[in-house]
Amino acid sequence: MEQVRRYGHWADKPEPIPAEQITETVSADVVVAGCGMSGVSCALRAAQGGADVIVLEKSGSWSGRGGNIGVVNSSFMRSQGYENDPEAFAREWIKRSGNRCDERILWRYINGSPRAMDWLLDIVTRPEYGCRPALQGSVYKGETYRELYGSHRLFGGPMEKKGMRAGGADAVYAMYTEAVKLGVRLFFHSPAVELTKENGRVTGVIAETENGYLLARAEKAVVLATGDIGGNEEMCADLAPLANKCASKIYGPKGGNMGDGHRLGLWAGGSFEDTPFPTMLHPQAYHFRNYCFLFVTPDGRRFMNEDSYVQGKTVAILRENAPYAWSIMDSGWREKVPATLPYGGGLFWGGDCEVGESEFILEEEERMLAWGLKRGVVVTGDTPEELSERMGVPSDVFTGEFDRYNALCAEGKDRDFGKRRELLIPLDKPPYYGMKFAPALLTVVGGLRVNADQNVLSENGDPVAGLYAVGNAAGGRYGVDYPILVPGNSHGTALTLGFLLGERLGSENDG
Ligand SMILES: Cc1cc2nc3c(=O)[nH]c(=O)nc-3n(C[C@H](O)[C@H](O)[C@H](O)COP(=O)(O)OP(=O)(O)OC[C@H]3O[C@@H](n4cnc5c(N)ncnc54)[C@H](O)[C@@H]3O)c2cc1C
Repeated sequence: MEQVRRYGHWADKPEPIPAEQITETVSADVVVAGCGMSGVSCALRAAQGGADVIVLEKSGSWSGRGGNIGVVNSSFMRSQGYENDPEAFAREWIKRSGNRCDERILWRYINGSPRAMDWLLDIVTRPEYGCRPALQGSVYKGETYRELYGSHRLFGGPMEKKGMRAGGADAVYAMYTEAVKLGVRLFFHSPAVELTKENGRVTGVIAETENGYLLARAEKAVVLATGDIGGNEEMCADLAPLANKCASKIYGPKGGNMGDGHRLGLWAGGSFEDTPFPTMLHPQAYHFRNYCFLFVTPDGRRFMNEDSYVQGKTVAILRENAPYAWSIMDSGWREKVPATLPYGGGLFWGGDCEVGESEFILEEEERMLAWGLKRGVVVTGDTPEELSERMGVPSDVFTGEFDRYNALCAEGKDRDFGKRRELLIPLDKPPYYGMKFAPALLTVVGGLRVNADQNVLSENGDPVAGLYAVGNAAGGRYGVDYPILVPGNSHGTALTLGFLLGERLGSENDG
């Protein structure tokens, strides 16, 4: 009987690279594939412990992006008067992960992230990097999807001065620079393409370079830190179908998220965590603001409780199989939006701010609106009918939904979707606005099955000797969805679990 294929052809193991094609061999204690957030924290920490480390990177540089690095606690947080309760944090995370995360890995993050963040801040605040840490203030404040403070931003660093978003890039740049100072050898334009195995143990990585193949032998460990699968349509189709439904995929560097490490791990005897993999989604394609009044699909229908958070809004649009949604507001928005923020807020509803600052800066919101109008992703109309024409949605359906929404607001009870009374704010001040917004895929946060030491596991749960995975190459952190219990926790877990693995590999070296 013909065997049913489990995965597409992306999973087919290629022929081994012939030994005569290896043009250079190098060796180290630890070989890390991938120079992003998790790889560089692992490499630097291992080197600090005395390990000899090689990093292989596919692109021409280290890679860092985004603004938020979320941890459970840190000394900086405490100095600002904020401290999370680890046990409550764990319970909530497990709940939001649909009980599918690995609690041992979660507790490594909970207990390790304060130390990892203190370590990072000690580096990035040195004069040569000059970063000023700050706590992100934009969080969703409602009870259901409550987001906690713990997301760190880094302002004023060299990469922000070059125009990159303050946070991720400066963190990676500083760790990379320190790693180089400690003698970590980095090979750019050197994608890992094969893992070597001897007597059941992973012993090295073969990378493709412009001069042929490089064999990097690893005495102690090979670490897969190659990021996610989001850029690989075929892998997403099998492992994270939601990712392919997004209006845009915004990862950079291009080609850096093709799931290379996932496949290398699989071919070396590893296995994947349960699928579908969770996805990190932001409602930021087209327009950057969506607030919480009335959302409709392209066919003009209300489809959700608008009182939701970053992931919730995007997942709801995808559930509709809709390429985008419209968020409707009226000309009273300058007073109505700030009135909603104490109940909800967070990214794309409130503005980007530091803790203690207002989430609503009128000039910033005006600027954003003008930008949207200019780009045609925000349209206006003096009546609901006119607005529907500009949005291109069926007028009769939309005006019906619009009137129904206002009637529910007048009644003070959302019989259709259960929005909280405080957020049932009527749309009664023309002209009206329609803001087009859609899901963007940032990353797919699922990967190889690992244990709490980040050791890759086979299908039956045995560790693959010598092989580790961190960051988005590894699974176990989430489950069904990306829980934004603390914003930026994908960076936070990549940093922490990379740091802890590097620490173990470095200290094993001492011993
Ligand atoms: C636009 C954007 C903004 C984001 N903002 C945030 C944020 O604010 N907070 C947050 O928590 N998360 C954010 N994320 C997600 C976050 O960037 C990732 O989850 C995180 O960087 C994962 O770290 P990583 O080390 O696993 O992978 P990455 O940081 O993606 O690094 C992987 C590295 O491996 C390299 N690589 C790939 N294949 C190979 C190979 N075969 N051999 C060698 N090297 C290879 C890649 O080129 C890359 O440099 C954002 C994502 C995007 C796209």
